[in-house]
Amino acid sequence: TALIEARDLEVSFGGTPALRGASLTVETGDVVAIMGPSGSGKSTLLHCLGGILVPDAGEVWVDGQRIDSLDEQRRSTLRRDTFGFVFQFGQLVPELTAEENVALPLLLGGRRRAAALAEARPWFARLGLDGLHRRRSGELSGGEAQRVALARGLVTGPRVLFADEPTGALDSLTGEQVMDLLVDAAREQGSTVVLVTHEPRVAAYADRQVIVRDGRTSPLTVERVGS
Ligand code: ADP
Ligand code: ADP
Repeated sequence: TALIEARDLEVSFGGTPALRGASLTVETGDVVAIMGPSGSGKSTLLHCLGGILVPDAGEVWVDGQRIDSLDEQRRSTLRRDTFGFVFQFGQLVPELTAEENVALPLLLGGRRRAAALAEARPWFARLGLDGLHRRRSGELSGGEAQRVALARGLVTGPRVLFADEPTGALDSLTGEQVMDLLVDAAREQGSTVVLVTHEPRVAAYADRQVIVRDGRTSPLTVERVGS
């Protein structure tokens, strides 16, 4: 059975519909790109899948569990233990060092500081960030910061990594480096990936693309072009 199944999701903000019947199935190990014009509902869909937002109607199932009807505390636990997140503008804590940022999800999960930092450290070599672990994250370049954000999203070994325009703030070469690292690292540890992008070059890294238009989804199966 599918790892994620969303059926007929509807979301309105102040009476204005953002999702009007969006459905999506994601198999374990898939890299799925949610594409579509600005304002079409991509982020809203991602937020519903990731347990950040509760839809007004429809159902979200993850690993056989219905998650949209869980209370806020259970959704919070699910997000922490099962999901990882990467956003467009890294959203690192600028006063913390890069390694403290990567360790944050582990600390929030109850890991002790020394153990969390020890688990964070190997990600620096893996993502080409050697020597930057003690740097304040406010002093990193855009591409470095986004790789640190990627490490933070993957450090818990999440079942699903949700990425919302992970390359949106980067130039195209840096963006492709981040996508290469994202896809390789996720596959290596068996994390399924759901990403939102409006860039075809980024979507080309996915096994499958889902198009959102005016709050409705239509799947488009494509060959994987990137590597
Ligand atoms: P996309 O990610 O495709 O750009 P979004 O999902 O961010 O689209 O937004 C879909 C629509 O819902 C847009 O019209 C947007 O302005 C609106 N919207 C999204 N989030 C909110 C919110 N928290 N409050 C009010 N309107 C929102
Ligand atoms: P993205 O680039 O990922 O689509 P947005 O710029 O659409 O992100 O939205 C960033 C944040 O602001 C999201 O949490 C979204 O829910 C919220 N948001 C988007 N549109 C509106 C809106 N019209 N009113 C209030 N909040 C919004």
